[in-house]
Amino acid sequence: MRPDVLNPLFAEVEALKGVGPQVAKLLHRLDLTRAVDLLFHLPTGAIERIRASAANPSMLGHNVVLEVTPFEARQSQGRGPTRIYAGDGNGNVITLAFFNHGGWAKKQLPLGETRIVSGKLEAYGDQWQMVHPEVIEPGKSAEPPLRESVYPLTEGLTNRRLRELVTAALERAPDLPEWIEPSLLSREGWRPWRASVAEAHAEPDTADARRRLAYDEIFANQLALQLLRAVSRRKRGIPLAGDGRLTERLKLPYSLTGAQRRVVEEIRGDMAQAAPMLRLLQGDVGSGKTLVALLAMLNAVEAGTQAALLAPTEILARQHHATLLKQLDPIGVRVAILTGREKGRARDSVLMGLASGEIDILVGTHAIFQEKVGYRNLGLAVIDEQHRFGVSQRLLLSAKAERPPHLLVMTATPIPRTLTLTHYGEMDVSRIDEMPPGRTPVETRVISDERLGDVIEGLARHIAVGGQAYWVCPLVEESEKSDAAAAEERAAVLRQRFPGKVGLVHGRMKGPEKDAVMASFAANELAVLVATTVIEVGVDVPNATLMIIEGAERFGLAQLHQLRGRVGRGEGKSTCLLIRGQPLSETGRARLALMRETSDGFRIAEEDLKLRGPGEILGTRQSGEAAFRLATPEMVSELAPMATNDAQLLLDRDGGLAGERGQAARLCLYLFERDQAVDLLRSG
Ligand code: ADP
Ligand code: MG
Repeated sequence: MRPDVLNPLFAEVEALKGVGPQVAKLLHRLDLTRAVDLLFHLPTGAIERIRASAANPSMLGHNVVLEVTPFEARQSQGRGPTRIYAGDGNGNVITLAFFNHGGWAKKQLPLGETRIVSGKLEAYGDQWQMVHPEVIEPGKSAEPPLRESVYPLTEGLTNRRLRELVTAALERAPDLPEWIEPSLLSREGWRPWRASVAEAHAEPDTADARRRLAYDEIFANQLALQLLRAVSRRKRGIPLAGDGRLTERLKLPYSLTGAQRRVVEEIRGDMAQAAPMLRLLQGDVGSGKTLVALLAMLNAVEAGTQAALLAPTEILARQHHATLLKQLDPIGVRVAILTGREKGRARDSVLMGLASGEIDILVGTHAIFQEKVGYRNLGLAVIDEQHRFGVSQRLLLSAKAERPPHLLVMTATPIPRTLTLTHYGEMDVSRIDEMPPGRTPVETRVISDERLGDVIEGLARHIAVGGQAYWVCPLVEESEKSDAAAAEERAAVLRQRFPGKVGLVHGRMKGPEKDAVMASFAANELAVLVATTVIEVGVDVPNATLMIIEGAERFGLAQLHQLRGRVGRGEGKSTCLLIRGQPLSETGRARLALMRETSDGFRIAEEDLKLRGPGEILGTRQSGEAAFRLATPEMVSELAPMATNDAQLLLDRDGGLAGERGQAARLCLYLFERDQAVDLLRSG
C-alpha cells in the first residue's frame, strides 16, 4: 500500500482546481494523468521578458511586455492578418498582427483603451510588430512573469495554463524525509527533495536540482532491482548438478571456444547452488550462445529436471527447436515446442507431456510461461534475446515461484555497462568475448540509393555463383502495414529480375507461411530473402553471405549491427551493403561511417546510446520498461553507478527498508512506481 503522505500526488489531474474534462484530455495527451506526472513534467528552458513603458530598437528580437493603446484596426482582404495599430508611452507605433483570430483580437484590444501586450518585438519592414501577442487587461489578470519556464505543450494547452497546474501540483507535494546517503548528499550539495522539485521547475537552466531528481529516479530503479535480487536469492531453488551422462554422448561438429567453456562453467557453478541462478549472458551475434544454452539445459535434464527456452519470435523458436532436436533426439532427450500456433490436440499433448515430465525440454514463445502451462519440475528457464522480456516478467518467473527455477537470460545486444546496471542490476553477468574460429569480419560498404541498379547487378553476380543474400527493407512510419507494403514492392521488383528465387517474410504474414519461406531459404531453394526487421534476431543461414540493407540511415546502430550479424557465419567472405537515402544528415553520415569502421558491438552500442537513448537499444520504448522520464542517457551513465552503490549500502549497512533511511527510500520507490519491489518483499 502506498504511504498516505504520497496520496495527494497520485490523485488524478481532474482533482486539481480548474481541471475539467477538456483540460484533462489535453493533459492525457501529454501522458499527464496524475498530479505526480505534472510534478515530473519538467520545463525545457526559460524565456526572459523585458518590461517597459515604451519600445526601443534594442528590444527588437526580444520578448517584451508593453503598455499600449490601440488606435486603429484593419482587417486585411483575403487571408492576410488582422492588424491592430497601437501606440506606446513614447508615441511609437506597434503593429499587432493576428492571423485567423481577428474578431477575438478586436474584442481584446478595444480602441482607445490601455492594454498590456506580451510577445516578441520584431521589425516588419520599417514597422515594429508583434504577432499574436498575449493581451492582458490591466488589473484583471496577472502580467506574464519576467522569467517563465517553458514546458512541452500540446495544441490547445498554453504554457501559462500548464504552469498554473504545475504550481497546483507543487502545492500538493509534501516534504519528504531524505533517502540519499548523507555523505553523498553533502558531497553533491543537493537540496531536499521538495526544494529540488520546486527549483527544477523555477530554474530550468540550473542543473543541480534536475540532477538530484534524476538520481532519485535511478536510485529507485536500482534499489528495486537489488531488492528483487535479495528476495530471489533468499528463496530455496533446486541445486542441480548434472552427472555428464548426456553431455558425453553429444556429437558436436566442433569444440567449444574458450569463452563458451568458461561461461558454461560459470553457469554450472550457479546451478549447483540452492539459491536460484540469476545470470545474464552477453555475447555478440554469432558468438555461439545457443550451444551454451543447450549445455545448461542438458545439465538440468541430467539432474532430473526440465528446462525451458523462450525465444522472442516464432521463427526463432522453430529454429531453436530444430537445432536442439538435431543434437538431442539422438541421445534420447525429449524436446517439444509450444507457441501460439500449437492448438487443439497438439497443444494438449505438449501440456500433458510437461505435466507428466515426459518432455525434458520445451522451446517456445511467451506462451511457455503462461499460467496454464504447468511443468512437473522446471529446473532452468533460458530466455533468448530477452530485450522484450522485462524486469516485471523476470520477477514473475523467478521471485514469485515457490521454488524458482534457475534463470539464464541471453542477449546479443551489446549493452553498455550502465544499461546493464539499470536493466539487469539484479543479475550476475557472463560475457562471451570470443568468436568461434574461422570467422572473417564482414566487409561493410555504404552506397547511395541512386546506385540501386548497381546493387542489383552485384546481387545477380552473387547469386550466379551460388550465393544467398538477405535484403532488408526499413520500417516505414512505424506502421507494420506499410513496412510490409514496402517489402512486397521490393520483392516484386527483385522477382522480375530473379524469377523463382526470391522469398519474402514480414510481420504481417501468418506463422506457417513465414516458416515455409524461411525453410526454403535455409535449404537454399531461394537465393534472396526480402524481409522487414523480423529477421533481426537469431536467424542462422551460414551460406547467406550478402546482407543488403535499404534505407540504412533509418535504423539504429545497434539494429544495424544485429542485422549485419546475420552474415559472416560461414566459411566464405561476407559483405554488408548499407544503402542510404538522400539527403543524408551529418549524424546520419557519421553513424554509417562508424558501421563501416568497426564491428565492435559494444562500441556501436555506446554510440547508439548517445544518439538514440536506451529505449531504442533495448527495445523498451513501447513497453515503457525501466524507462526513465527524468534521467537522460548521459545522466544514467553518470549516476547509475552511484545509485547502485547507494542502494547496496542501504541494504547491506543501513538496515534495508526497515531502518530510518529505508523508510524514506520506500517513499522513493513508490514515488517512481517501483513499488512492485516493496510488495515482493512483503510476500517473499
Ligand atoms: P548466437 O550467439 O548469435 O546465438 P549461435 O548460437 O546461433 O550464435 O551460433 C552461431 C553459429 O556459430 C552457429 O552456426 C553455430 O553452430 C556456430 N558455432 C557455435 N559455437 C561454435 C564453436 N565453438 N565453433 C564453431 N562454430 C560454432
Ligand atoms: Mg542466438
